[in-house]
Amino acid sequence: MQKRERLYEGKAKKVYATDDARFYIIEYKDDATAFNGEKKGTIAGKGVVNNRMSNILFRMLEANGVETHLVEELSDRETVVKAVEIVPLEVIVRNVAAGSFSKRFGVEEGRELEAPTLEYCLKDDALGDPMINDSQILALGVATEEELRTMGALALRINGLLKDYFSRIGVRLVDFKIELGRYEGRIVLADEISPDTCRFWDAETNRKLDKDRFRRDLGGVEDAYREMFERVSR
Ligand code: UDP
Repeated sequence: MQKRERLYEGKAKKVYATDDARFYIIEYKDDATAFNGEKKGTIAGKGVVNNRMSNILFRMLEANGVETHLVEELSDRETVVKAVEIVPLEVIVRNVAAGSFSKRFGVEEGRELEAPTLEYCLKDDALGDPMINDSQILALGVATEEELRTMGALALRINGLLKDYFSRIGVRLVDFKIELGRYEGRIVLADEISPDTCRFWDAETNRKLDKDRFRRDLGGVEDAYREMFERVSR
């Protein structure tokens, strides 16, 4: 597969066209941003961890019947993926209160939720990715009713599979964000699942093993990413 022109460069990844219109190549960078780009930095080795860890998780999900964009890992930082059209929504699932949820509802971080929550944010940097509800998604034509139903059910199913997977490696899956894409008329899991997009707490100590170490200047960022990668690789 040949890399062609760069189609897109985001905060953490570059996307390239290939000589086959059905596929893209994504390349993961070490650049990190937080708070809608206000905070910038690099996390050494992050691109390798996110690429390889995401692929391990996507293979596990595929084995459980969840279609993903994953085609083939090319190298430490590069993966061939299906050329999906990203639905411009961040789909967030939570098991434990943290981050914006804790702030919005005045709930202490770490409170186990009585049921998982499902939230959507509209992907729009200029607007700061505002939260959006089902009827607003339909009203703006961001997704169809059927797509919305599929995405919600898929997100909760993925949560169940990830929660079990992480609990087996001593990790509490607090919350995560996924992005879905359209491919040949189907909704498939795209983007990445990594310490950039999930909150992972050690099950014994509640030590944070994710991007909150960068967001909140807690130190030990690289070590946390490495630790998570070692656990999923075992
Ligand atoms: N998240 C993400 N990208 C975003 C916003 C959130 O990957 O642009 C992830 C974040 O890492 C966390 C979950 O979604 O695992 C919930 O994030 P939250 O809404 O609490 O926002 P935050 O506190 O991170 O601003």
